[in-house]
Amino acid sequence: MDEIVGIDLGTTNSLIGIMDAGFPILLADADGARLTPSVVALPEDGPPLVGSPAQRMRALRPRETIYSIKRFMGLRGDDLRDEDMDVSYEIDRSGAQVSARVNGQRYSPEEISALILGKLKANAEAALGHAVSHAVITVPAYFNDAQRSATKRAGELAGFAVERIVNEPTAAALAYGLDKLSTRAKIAVYDLGGGTFDISILELNNAVFEVLATNGNTHLGGDDIDTALIRHLIQNHDHLAANPEAISRLREAAIAAKHKLSSEEFATIEIPFLDGETNFSATISRAELEQLGRPVIERTRAHCRRVLADAKLEPADLDEVILVGGVTRMPFVRQFVAEVFGREPNVTQNPDETVAIGATIQAGILSGAVRDVVLLDVTPLSLGIETFGGLMNVIIPRNSTIPIKAGEMFTTAVHNQRSMSIKVLQGEREMAKDNWTLGQFEIEFEAAPKGIARVGVQFEIDVNGILHVLARDTRTGSEKVVALQSAIDVSDEAVEAMIGDSLEHAFTDMAERVWTEAELKSNEMLAAVDAALLLVNEDLEPAMRDTILQRVSDVRAALRSREAKRLKDANDALDRATETLAARIVAKALESAGTP
Ligand code: ADP
Ligand code: MG
Repeated sequence: MDEIVGIDLGTTNSLIGIMDAGFPILLADADGARLTPSVVALPEDGPPLVGSPAQRMRALRPRETIYSIKRFMGLRGDDLRDEDMDVSYEIDRSGAQVSARVNGQRYSPEEISALILGKLKANAEAALGHAVSHAVITVPAYFNDAQRSATKRAGELAGFAVERIVNEPTAAALAYGLDKLSTRAKIAVYDLGGGTFDISILELNNAVFEVLATNGNTHLGGDDIDTALIRHLIQNHDHLAANPEAISRLREAAIAAKHKLSSEEFATIEIPFLDGETNFSATISRAELEQLGRPVIERTRAHCRRVLADAKLEPADLDEVILVGGVTRMPFVRQFVAEVFGREPNVTQNPDETVAIGATIQAGILSGAVRDVVLLDVTPLSLGIETFGGLMNVIIPRNSTIPIKAGEMFTTAVHNQRSMSIKVLQGEREMAKDNWTLGQFEIEFEAAPKGIARVGVQFEIDVNGILHVLARDTRTGSEKVVALQSAIDVSDEAVEAMIGDSLEHAFTDMAERVWTEAELKSNEMLAAVDAALLLVNEDLEPAMRDTILQRVSDVRAALRSREAKRLKDANDALDRATETLAARIVAKALESAGTP
């Protein structure tokens, strides 16, 4: 199957990505922007403009600039409500299908969306240097058949074979890596975008996400915060309100200030000659912005309550709450979500990119990893990196044909880990120390709780047999590439010796791997049980406490014995003894968080 791109066709912004040997990357336009505004300008006197250039036309040519077209996708005239008509261009609801009318011409929502998709396609092709023709496109979970079909037609109009339409919350959950959660895990996806709010509850069932319930509001989002902010800014400048061009320049500056306030405490807005005469200047604090935005965010609360009721769940039944949509970058929105759901949301991904990343992962799953490679040579020995516990993790197995690219995602093993040391290894032995080290380097990332930072490591052996190792922090996109010595230029004797050794040590090597893995698990559980006992100390019945302490000391004894089987059994027994402990802790945490 050909390569497939993943597309988030958003109400406000759209993105496109592709699977690059093992992990998803988003493709930028010529200016380096990964977000393309979902805006199309149709000037009478020129060709259509799409994306940022169209966005700039919005103020100058409001009647010729189409935005938020997704709201009209697949709708009939009588599906529209009055608030839907509140756009600066003309909407024609007379025909069987809603359309936009610009300069006497009718445009269906599919046609407008196709222009946006076409722009993404062109950006991707320019970035990749070759054509792309297959796509996965995401839609809101509540989209009905007509809306999904319209989205598919838009893709086809843009020249794509649309391989699948995927629900946005499902894509987001994939991007957060939640397909790795245990089966029947329940996930809330809180998605606050530019003009729409969606809240969905998913359940993981045999590695497939099922939408249990969905709710939301198609007229609620970051735009409302912008409007409140602008109203606040022009309070004492009455004359500005009647000057659309000034308001439009102010809006642009206000949005930039709003974004800045997600990471800083203050922002200043300076616009020279805003009304042609006077300069505009204002400083706004994060606290002020939060006060203006709070009523907007508060409106999402009822939808969250309703979706839980529809799914017949309590907040405590959720295994994970994830954030999607640019507005959830605002710290007070994160706090709000934590309060509503009685648990900290998972903030490990860029909220405005997760849907596109997930669409791309889905595209990668569909296309499979089949590669069309010319058989040039093979790798004589396996290549990999050292992982926690000193184990060898193979990335390119021996006898792979080159050129070849392969990659994998890794997570951190320690809380607040700031960097990961990538040790590149070659050889067939289970333990890193028994293989040859080809090189070593560090990749840095933002501190995060253990297991959350995700680093993609990609190995590429070019036609010359040179190994290029790339490590990328999947969250910030920061990356490091290192070229190492020839990976295939190994003497036959050395290869034979290595393979001979690996066969000779096969049993002891395997035993060592099994032991190391059990040991890692013990250490993790012992730390978790210690912390848990501290937390629920006085509420625990003495009998249960004694059992747990007994199991803990069994694990410690097994650790000293160095018998793998005994350690695994002791781990399992401790795991069983602490099952109810875990439930208590969750209950306790909720109690102290004062869930509504
Ligand atoms: P959609 O899914 O509707 O296409 P997005 O997820 O791209 O929209 O969200 C766009 C909204 O997010 C806009 O209102 C934008 O101003 C807001 N936004 C983006 N980045 C930030 C930020 N750093 N702080 C606050 N709001 C942001
Ligand atoms: Mg979105």
